[in-house]
Amino acid sequence: MIIYSCHGAAKQVTGSCHLLECNEQRVLIDCGLIQGSRTAEQANREDFGFDPASIDAVLLTHAHLDHCGRLPLLVKRGFRGRILATAATRELAHVVLLDAAGLQEEDARRAQGRQRNGEAVEPPLYTVQDARQVMDLFADDVVYGETIQVAPGITARFLDAGHILGSASILIEVDDGSLQRRLVFSGDLGNPNRPIVRDPMPAPAADYVIMESTYGDRPHRSVPDSVEELYQAIRETTGRHGNVIIPTFALERTQEILYYLHIGIRTGAVPGHLRIFLDSPMAISATEIFRRHPECFDLDFVGELEHGDPFDMPGLHFTRETSESMAINTIQSGAVILAGSGMCNGGRVRHHLKHNLWRERCSIVFVGYAAEGTPARRIVDGAESVRLFNSDVPVRAQVWTINGFSAHAGQPSLIDWLGDAPRRKVFLVHGEVDRGMGRLHDVLTERGFSCQLPGMHEPIKID
Ligand code: ZN
Repeated sequence: MIIYSCHGAAKQVTGSCHLLECNEQRVLIDCGLIQGSRTAEQANREDFGFDPASIDAVLLTHAHLDHCGRLPLLVKRGFRGRILATAATRELAHVVLLDAAGLQEEDARRAQGRQRNGEAVEPPLYTVQDARQVMDLFADDVVYGETIQVAPGITARFLDAGHILGSASILIEVDDGSLQRRLVFSGDLGNPNRPIVRDPMPAPAADYVIMESTYGDRPHRSVPDSVEELYQAIRETTGRHGNVIIPTFALERTQEILYYLHIGIRTGAVPGHLRIFLDSPMAISATEIFRRHPECFDLDFVGELEHGDPFDMPGLHFTRETSESMAINTIQSGAVILAGSGMCNGGRVRHHLKHNLWRERCSIVFVGYAAEGTPARRIVDGAESVRLFNSDVPVRAQVWTINGFSAHAGQPSLIDWLGDAPRRKVFLVHGEVDRGMGRLHDVLTERGFSCQLPGMHEPIKID
């Protein structure tokens, strides 16, 4: 008997977690953090829906927090199996998980500070110590394209997903003694023709496909259009003596934006005197990891390296220390500031928003996904003000939403990735029902696929 169940990113976008059971072996694909509003994040404290101690192995598609962020909790609750991932994913996960654990501890400390008599204070979801334990469980690094034995009757092959450095879709073959089935888990899929990482490999022959649907409702603008829009935002903003704030996630988009700024300065598309700040210790660490993994680079990136290192260009400042970050606040114009978090619900970007969001001459440039309930989403949706550090800050800066940089495939790329080959079933995960997931369901059904939106913790028999 082969059973698949979804324990995260079922009809929602974050918290990816999938369980495959066969021959009394239990393999998890991803174990991500649920992200969004505080209420949404409370769900991380709930039961996994399975016993963590019973899991034999975790296959990790990539290092984004919504795919790896509950691993420390899994370990804290008893998981002692192996974790399988590519080398780049392992290194990036290290940075991402330590950062997340640090934030959890800091939140708990702050709550303790606000504690009133007798009030119970929630402990951190997990600690830095728990995150370190995760790192001890990584098995030998997985190489793209190699078939690996995961457990008796279960093999896996990691394929380029084109999403972030080290990212993979995973083809799993299961044999329960009487039935052999192939399942492919898309992980998060990138768009083709993005810089730095290679294009996604098309979905291989498989009976079942478990695929993400984040942007299943729309195409993205083309990358060249998006790059031109970014250059335009910078030109216009610096022309009226303002700053450009780009809320970014530490992984991938940050490095891509640096890559495009490198080209923009080289070709004169943006002023050469820009002061560019990468104001995120995690993004700085991630950028250093990028440098160590040329085996993941595509040809465009290798070509641009001949014109100099985009991660070490003149005018680029890495601000690791808090004091360096605070010094940026005194700059009135000509700065391009990349800081996290991408959804503006934490991190240093909130300080930069506090100093620039109310200034008409500045621009806020969103280049990534803004989940429901986050300040980023409110700004994108046209809010007149947002709450930052206990005060309402009016939104007067120009707001740009440039979705062509998305690390997620748009609808046409998702359809291309799936191809025309017949499938027994396509399970859609990692999307909002009234947006990408629902729309992709309709489009794929029209194309003759049998689609299903798995419910949370719902066991599904694979036959
Ligand atoms: Zn991702």
